[in-house]
This record gives sequence, C-alpha cells and structure tokens, in this order.
Amino acid sequence: MSSSPIDRPIQSPLDKPVQFVSGVGPYRARLLGELGVQTVGDLIQHFPFRYEDQGPPQRIDTLRLDEPATIIGVVDQVRWQGGFGRQVKSTLRATISDGTGRARITWFNAPHMRQRLERGQVVRLYGKIGVENDLAHMANPRIEWLDPKADPASWHFGRLVPVYRATANLTSAQIARIVDHVLDEAVTAIEEPLPAELCRQRGLPPRAEAIRMLHRPTSLEETEPARRRLAYEELLLMQLAISLQRRWSAARARAPELPLTEKIDQRIRLRFPFSLTAAQNRVIRQIVADLARSRPMARLLQGDVGSGKTVVALYAALVTVANRHQCAILAPTEVLASQHYANIEKYLAGSRVRRGLLTGRTTKAERQRLLAATAAGEIDLLVGTQALLERTVRFASLGLVVVDEQHKFGVAQRATLKGIGLKNSEAGDSVTDSRTSREPHYLVMTATPIPRTLSMTVFGDLDVSSIDELPPGRQPVLTRLVDARSEAQAWLAVRRRIAEGEQAYIVYPLVEESDSLDLKAATVEMGHVAHDLLPGTRVGLLHGRMNKQEKQAVMKSFAAHRLDVLVSTTVIEVGIDVPNATVMVVQHAERYGLSALHQLRGRVGRGHKPSICLLMADRMGDLARKRLKVLCGTNDGFRIAEEDLRLRGPGELLGTRQHGFPEFRVANLVEDAELLLRARDDAAELVRQDPRLTRPIHQPLRAELRRRFRDKVAFMQVG
Ligand code: ADP
Ligand code: MG
Repeated sequence: MSSSPIDRPIQSPLDKPVQFVSGVGPYRARLLGELGVQTVGDLIQHFPFRYEDQGPPQRIDTLRLDEPATIIGVVDQVRWQGGFGRQVKSTLRATISDGTGRARITWFNAPHMRQRLERGQVVRLYGKIGVENDLAHMANPRIEWLDPKADPASWHFGRLVPVYRATANLTSAQIARIVDHVLDEAVTAIEEPLPAELCRQRGLPPRAEAIRMLHRPTSLEETEPARRRLAYEELLLMQLAISLQRRWSAARARAPELPLTEKIDQRIRLRFPFSLTAAQNRVIRQIVADLARSRPMARLLQGDVGSGKTVVALYAALVTVANRHQCAILAPTEVLASQHYANIEKYLAGSRVRRGLLTGRTTKAERQRLLAATAAGEIDLLVGTQALLERTVRFASLGLVVVDEQHKFGVAQRATLKGIGLKNSEAGDSVTDSRTSREPHYLVMTATPIPRTLSMTVFGDLDVSSIDELPPGRQPVLTRLVDARSEAQAWLAVRRRIAEGEQAYIVYPLVEESDSLDLKAATVEMGHVAHDLLPGTRVGLLHGRMNKQEKQAVMKSFAAHRLDVLVSTTVIEVGIDVPNATVMVVQHAERYGLSALHQLRGRVGRGHKPSICLLMADRMGDLARKRLKVLCGTNDGFRIAEEDLRLRGPGELLGTRQHGFPEFRVANLVEDAELLLRARDDAAELVRQDPRLTRPIHQPLRAELRRRFRDKVAFMQVG
C-alpha cells in the first residue's frame, strides 16, 4: 500500500479523497487532514460530539436580549465592506425581516458569505441576540438557506445542529456543510458488516442508518441508539480480532506441557513459611491447568501490592523447573528485579534450583557466565530487567516467562516479550515445522487493579486471574484526609511514631517538568521536613535527578533504619518492602490518581504494626475531596480503579498513552461497559460457529476486520 490515496484507483465513493468533494479543495483538505479526515469515508465517520438544540423560530418582535434564538426571514439588504482574500478584514452587513420586525445581521471576516447571500433569499438564522441602532442584531449567526417555494409550515420546526470537532480555520458549521453535501451519496455506499440476524436480535439499526442519524438526527433521542450501534460494532470488531488472533496463535504455537504431580506440589509448598491464601490457591489452580497444556498460557495475574503475587509466580516457576524447563522473570526496573531476586533467594535457600540475576548492572564477566549457562540449560531461573530481552540471551528450553508490571513496558517491548520464545534455541531448528512455533507459557503480573472493561481491551489477549485477598495478619492501612486545620496535629502524630522507632515516607509530587527545578524543590522540602516538621529525625532524600546507585544507596539506608524518614519526589518504586515503615504522608494528594495513591499506600502496612496514610491537600474542590474520600473508605483496589476510570479515563489510569491502548471513535469504556460484555460474548459465539469467519454471511465482517486490523494482527496478514 505504498501509493497515495490520490493515485489509487477509486473503488468506492467512500475512498474518494475529501479534496475532490465540492466546496473542499486543497486548502480545506489540509485542514480536514488535521482532524484525521482524508477520505469521504473518514469524513462521514467524523461524528458530532454534541448537538445544539436551536428550538423553533421566534418572531423578531419578541426576541430577548442576550439569549440565543432562531429567526426565519427574508433578506432585504446586503452590504459588503472591506477587501478581498482571507487576510483582509471585512464586514458583511444585512437586514432581514419576518413581517413582525427587522433584524440586523453582521458577518465579520467571512468572505465566503459574500457570494452566497442575496436579496430575496429566505434564511434561518441562529445566534445570540444583541442590539444595534435599536434593532435586534446577530453577529456571525449560523445560517441555513430555505426553499422560498416550500410550505412555510415546514420551516417552523426546531433544529438539532450537529457540533463537530473543528480547527481554528475550519469551523464546525463549515464541516457540517461539507458533510451534508456528501452524506446522501456516501450513505448508499456503506456496507453493512454485521450479519442481519445479529442486528435484529440486538435491536441495532443498520450502520448506514446509524451514521445518517448521527449527522442528521431528527431528535436527540435517536442519536443514542445510533451511537450504541456504532459503539457495539467497534467493540465487537475488536473482540473478534482478539478472539481470532488467539485462536490463530493457539493453533500454531506449541508450549511445553508442564504437568503438576502431587509430589511436586508438596515440595513447592514446603518452600513457603506460610500456607497460601484461598485466593492464591485459586489462581494457582488456574495457572497449573494452563501449564499442563501444550497451548501456551497467556494469563494476567492481578492483585494489590502485598497480595502475594510473587509467591504465585514462584510457584509457577518451580512447576516449570520441576519439568526440566527454564523460567525467566522480568521486572521493569533494576531495583525491582533485585528485590524479586532477593525474595526468591529467601524462599529457595538450600534448594537445587540454579538461578541468576541479570540486569544492566551485572558485570561483564558475570553476564558472560550467565549467558553461557542459560544457553546451555544450566540456569533454571533467570531474573532480570529488559536486559533479558536482548538478542544475545538464549535459553536452552524456556518454559515460562513471568513479567511483572507489564504496563510499565512499552508496546514495542511487549511485542518482543511475546517473541521471546522464538529466540529459544529450538526456534532456529530446521526440523521445526514452519507453521508451528515453540513458545513459552506467559504470565503477566500487575499490581494496578484493572477494571474488567479495560483488561478486556488493553490485555484482551490474556486470561485474567485475580488475587482479591491479602495474606492473614496484614493490617489494612488507615487512610485520612488532612487539611490545613488538622496539619499540625498530623505531623505530631508522625513524630510520635518515629519516636517509637517506626519509619515514614513523605511523598511530594513532581512539581516541575524540569529536573533542576524539581531538584531544588526536593532540597527545599527536605530542609523543611528536617528542620520544621520533624525536627530531630534522620531524613533522607530520593529525587528524580539521582542516578540508580545513589537511589539504591538511600533506599538501603532507609531499609536498614539508618534513616527515619524518606522524602521522595519521585514515586517510590513499586515493590519496595520495608515492614518497619508504617507512615505514608502524601503531599498535594489531589494531584494524583486514586490508583496511584492506592499503590503508594501499599508501601506501608507491610509489617505487624498498624499503618497510616495521610493524604495532605488544602484548597481542594468538592470533587477532589469526594475522590480522595473513596480511598479513606475502601482498601479494595478494584473499586478504586473503577472510580478512577470513571473520573479520569483509561489513559490516566494506566499512566501513559504508550502501551497500545486502543482508540475508539464512538465507544466509551466507562459508559459502554455492558455493551462491551455483550460484544465479547457475541464475538465468542461467532467464532465458535465459524472459527475462521469463512461463511458467506460473514464475509462483510471479515472484510471490515481486514480493513481495520490489517497491519495489527497476524491472522489478517496470512489469510
Ligand atoms: P506482591 O508481589 O503481590 O506484592 P508478595 O508475593 O511480594 O506480594 O507478598 C508480599 C508479602 O506477603 C511477602 O513478604 C510475602 O512473603 C508475604 N506473603 C505472601 N503470601 C503469603 C501468605 N499466604 N501468608 C503470609 N504471608 C504471605
Ligand atoms: Mg511484588
């Protein structure tokens, strides 16, 4: 597809470049391009984001000042002042009358109106009413030309005017006119991708009808079924793509079968100085069932910080090793990788499992040794960072990949992660059937509870297991909102705790984008804490400007209790584990998302003593207060995530935009949650009935999938 849309033969009116629509031309085509509109097909999918209800026309003699109104009248005078061209300031003045009075209309800098407005025309105008020389006045009103020969009764209805996302040089009204121009013809070219039976069962209007209704609704009520129809289609197509892709790769990919015996299970459990929680046992059963199959596991394991995911991952790793295959555990940062490794060392002390840690800091010699051992199958369990993804890392027989905090990895890395099994030495084997590939099982862990609607889209290709229970004896963190009035008291409480030998985190949000300002703010804050708020305590500082060694040194001091207080301007690494830290103070808490705060408070409450989290915020609006109150009321990460999704949207919830979050034109993951579940079930049913969508009635659906996902998913590239 290297040819530009212009020299490609035109198959459908929908493929026609907008430039060739009458009234567009190269200049406007460029403006439309800024809105992502290249073709007529794009244009009619540039949907209004709201409607202006203009109401029925009013008599000119009853107009009220400063209120928007619709009037219908005959143009009696038109006068043009000013120059030509876009740059020159100009004014077009007109008067219109409707038999009850006269109104003045002015268009500023609207040269296109000059040719279009003439004496004797009947026009409908909508705008805010002002006065000029004792007459009602409208400036730059919306205008619509009416047929003077038509029955005037037909004019006297209200109008729902679509409002489009526009640009500085292309107004919504101009876009509306362009859309209006092409709509009737374009709609006839729209193909229906959904099987008629499905539309009927679900009570959905046809696509062409829905698109027409969104641009030209006769009532506000009819826009909702139209929107739902298009949202459903988007969601269904996405779920179908995910479903077909999974089937396709499941059919091709072979993973080693890793069965569990009673003996192995017992041996693994002996490694843990506690018995597993019911939730841990439940997800382990799900994982074990996956591992025993030759189809690669693709599972997301979610649970709050401290819910015991690492233990579950280690269980899976040990099942893998017991079956004489290797396991790789990936963490997003060096600190986390080291911490995982240290934890695992603790559980595996004295075991025969051969393990290694590979990060960017591993010495060259050690690295060489690890790589050789891994390739030779002499390492069973390799923990590390992205360093594990480098080409030089080869596994003799990789059975399981565990990825911690997956959404912290970028999209590109995610693709590499999936391909990691291909680097496994068997992949290069010429005996391997070219249509099947060897892949490891794949387990992703995240401590950000992800609402189901999101995990179904962002991680739609994964099965989900949730740990919804904390290990016994864990104290829920008591969370309080602190405002200016209660602040002094709050610091007193912190001081008392420190005097009793406990430790505290104090987190400041990154104030400035610039590192140097951040450093300054951090230094100032630290001085403030050490001298004014918590005098006489040992305060350490962690900020974004430090390099990894410096950060680690500070965290080590804190963990060893050589510091009482850790002031941090960067979000403290997920997974830092200092059980003696029982106080978390978050400054300017209103600037964080709820899920981020929930994660932050997961840093405390890890020991036996009750912990507190103080959310400091002054000058807070009611909404912000209500939001933060959610945290005081619950420790349920899923509820918090749902609330975050509702209030801040998916991009915010997951932190960045870079992890391949699907973009929808119409669907909204908050409002359309139910629709998404229905679409998912319908997609599953379609694939069950027609696994490759080869039946004739599914051809339009297949064609649409191909159009939308051609570049994204493998099953579409092949056949
Ligand atoms: P996560 O990875 O979900 O944050 P971890 O697996 O690191 O959680 O577990 C957090 C802490 O809880 C660790 O100190 C771990 O030893 C402990 N832990 C995990 N599972 C249990 C359990 N079933 N009973 C008691 N303690 C547990
Ligand atoms: Mg963890």
